[in-house]
Amino acid sequence: MTGFIDSHAHLVDPAFDDDRDAVVSRLRDAGGRAVVCIGESIDAGERAAALSSAHAGFVFATAGVHPHDATSFDQTRDPDAIRELITRGAVAVGECGLDYHYDHSPRDAQRRAFAAQLALAKESDRPVVVHTREAEDDTQAMVVEAGLAGVRGVLHCYTGSEALAEAALGVGWYVSFSGIVTFKNWANDAVIRRVPDDRLLVESDSPYLAPVPNRGRRNEPAWVSFTVARVSAVRGVEPASLASTTARNAMRLFGLSLHSESNS
Ligand SMILES: [Zn+2]
Ligand SMILES: [Zn+2]
Repeated sequence: MTGFIDSHAHLVDPAFDDDRDAVVSRLRDAGGRAVVCIGESIDAGERAAALSSAHAGFVFATAGVHPHDATSFDQTRDPDAIRELITRGAVAVGECGLDYHYDHSPRDAQRRAFAAQLALAKESDRPVVVHTREAEDDTQAMVVEAGLAGVRGVLHCYTGSEALAEAALGVGWYVSFSGIVTFKNWANDAVIRRVPDDRLLVESDSPYLAPVPNRGRRNEPAWVSFTVARVSAVRGVEPASLASTTARNAMRLFGLSLHSESNS
């Protein structure tokens, strides 16, 4: 099955240090058209920018600060660093958001860092990649407020409620599904069906969350094909059609101009 885009991969994670270029090649060989490489810290954003330059038109970078690290978010230094990465081509702000499951940073620090990055997304006219876990009410309030102010974004690796998805969709946002939807304990096909065709994305979130049949192994973008197969089965469409629909959505949300298309 060809033609998909991995809308969220941590390709600069140390898990890929030994074979990063081979992982990118395998995505091409598997029919992937592009991958969005997440900079979940300023340091990762720098490395994502370098990887994107090395694979121009195929690997696209983002820049932001993950909620786990919100406690060290500096309201001056970090937005400046993200702005700089945007001038170097970062296609989105993030991933940022709220994670009240792990609570690695105090919740008020998470909200401050998230609010600053939503403001930056508005200022720089870039979409925002949002991580949310067990923080539904606060995520909904902040996403809806930003959305009404004109900020667009995606709830990535979505495992939340239909109500939160609905609220985000209502302000023009996208929802992305990962390999979690292939797991035996996934029990929310309703939310997969709830997302309209033009707001649906797929992602690996690699190196984490390898889909069945590779669950437990290091994940990689090529395996988004298993997630496409599962999501298309739930929605009753052909995998190839879902691959191209979600690829179009990723291109629209992130403003991607792909190497293959720009050369043809
Ligand atoms: Zn995340
Ligand atoms: Zn992520």
